[in-house]
Amino acid sequence: IPVENIRNFSIIAHVDHGKSTLADRLLEMTGAIMKNSGRSQVLDRLQVERERGITVKAQTASLNYTLNNHNYLLNLIDTPGHVDFSTEVSRSLAACQGVILLVDANQGVQAQTVANFYMAFGKELVIIPVLNKIDLKNADPEKVSGQLRTLFDISENDILKVSAKLGTGVEDVLKAVVDRLPPPPVNRETPFRALLFDSWYDRYQGAVVVVYVTDGSVKIGDEIVAMHSGKNYEIKSTGLLRPHEEPTNKLVAGQVGYLTCNMRSTKEAHIGDTLHHRNQSVTMLPDFKPANPMVFAGVYPMDQSQHVVLRSAIEKLVLNDSAVTVATDSSPALGQGWRLGFLGLLHMEVFNQRLEQEYDTQAVITAPSVTYKARIFGEKNVKRYGGSEITITNPAHFPDPCIVTEFLEPMVMGTIITPDTYLGPILSLCMERRGTQQSSTNIDNHHVIMHILLPLNEIVVDFHDHLKSISSGYASFDYEEYGFVPSRLVKLNILLNGIAVEELSMVVHASKASGVGRRVCLKLKEIIPRQMIEIAIQAAVGGKIVARETLKAYRKDVTAKLYGGDVTRRMKLLNRQAEGKKSMKLVANIRLPRETFIDVLKR
Ligand code: GDP
Ligand code: MG
Repeated sequence: IPVENIRNFSIIAHVDHGKSTLADRLLEMTGAIMKNSGRSQVLDRLQVERERGITVKAQTASLNYTLNNHNYLLNLIDTPGHVDFSTEVSRSLAACQGVILLVDANQGVQAQTVANFYMAFGKELVIIPVLNKIDLKNADPEKVSGQLRTLFDISENDILKVSAKLGTGVEDVLKAVVDRLPPPPVNRETPFRALLFDSWYDRYQGAVVVVYVTDGSVKIGDEIVAMHSGKNYEIKSTGLLRPHEEPTNKLVAGQVGYLTCNMRSTKEAHIGDTLHHRNQSVTMLPDFKPANPMVFAGVYPMDQSQHVVLRSAIEKLVLNDSAVTVATDSSPALGQGWRLGFLGLLHMEVFNQRLEQEYDTQAVITAPSVTYKARIFGEKNVKRYGGSEITITNPAHFPDPCIVTEFLEPMVMGTIITPDTYLGPILSLCMERRGTQQSSTNIDNHHVIMHILLPLNEIVVDFHDHLKSISSGYASFDYEEYGFVPSRLVKLNILLNGIAVEELSMVVHASKASGVGRRVCLKLKEIIPRQMIEIAIQAAVGGKIVARETLKAYRKDVTAKLYGGDVTRRMKLLNRQAEGKKSMKLVANIRLPRETFIDVLKR
């Protein structure tokens, strides 16, 4: 197919605005899938994606489309819609010349719509604005068109109106892709060059990589080099994704497709890498910024007998998700485990869910924490830590404040779009989370867009849930990294009868220490079973106690009264009690069931 007849595009949208539904319609209309094939949302392959209605891995489909007797090859590159996966959005867009900016005509522009728009705009892509769900009774295309004009300077004439569900107007979307997008700026006469922008792991073929061929062509048997590592490979297969793999003899410039070579794992498939033929020098295509983990959590097997199973499950999942970082970790109470780094909270939840669903494992995941930094002084200290700025991913490694000139914490710039009726409570929430408002602008008569600088630590756990509940679901939120700023951080220790329990310690802002301390103490009082001795539960910063609860002693023999006469029943019960004690951990000379840690550490 001539390059002039190829179009590479992507659909970007806030979650639930209908991206998957529109993709399904496009696939049906171009014959890639049968109408009513029974499975909706064909591009969402994983079970997690179906359940949560989000797209995790970017996936691709090549569509054949005929317009005015010309045959076109339209490469639809699916992108994940959530902030945690924005690097995946970015890398997918690198293969595109344009995007469909899909907006729900009822909900209007939402926070991710704004983030996605600017990502496409920054890459100088053609943007086709499309209002979806015009079949809804409450759809207000006029109002939403006005928002697009106010926010992005988009002209009413350029806006398409569709119902992805019913198929209304969808044909015009395909026409617009052909008419408004330029063909890919590629060259078939130059030596082979391709951008590697996605990959997945296949049990039989190893890494399957998705490429956008920018120059020349490649076929089975060719010897190629992956520039990032300099490693050589031999091409084993090539093909198009329709959306299922369809082998071809070769891939030529302009095409988006897959190839396999002897890459054993997706670790070798560096996202953003340039592939070329051996013995031919080409310039490297622009690489992507690697995705940095922002949120860390400990992962432990439910009991140590599952350690091996869990390890192999984590290894397999990481093969398909190179954004997760893995380090081994251990805890006296929870045993051997791992400390995993995730791009964000949703990323973590999706990983955990996949761990359970796809590998049938049960893991204890500790409350997430973020990375902090500290600047230290003193020649000896600098030497010991291997630098004057240290990174803290685990509260257990919090440095002694005596040697620290400054602590730093990561910030994000949040975007919130909300009906103005909820402004008051939202601003209170943001203030309580140590946020500072940067700007506020009306996007129509009733909606406001705000930018708020927030500590990442304050939003990783339940900020989004709170925002949704105080705004009856109407406010939307998105964020981007804003770097590290100086902050008053302290380590909050939890003491049981005066002895610190390391796995319960956490890093908090000084202003939050007593509040958080009180909460944890109360929770512990609730879940630690009463013991023969009284237990003091305390939270402390340095030597200072900031919260305290007391768990009274419990003396009665449970069996004495009820089963006084019946010896066998009494023995049975005592045995059971002994069994229970075996599974308890002795922490600070107090017997704690493992569940105590799980309950406190879990979110
Ligand atoms: P995504 O998160 O952007 O992929 O959104 P989905 O395609 O999963 O759609 C989210 C929800 O909106 C689903 O329940 C769809 O059935 C519904 N939906 C999508 N398009 C339309 C439409 O044109 N009209 C109506 N009424 N509902 C739609
Ligand atoms: Mg979807």
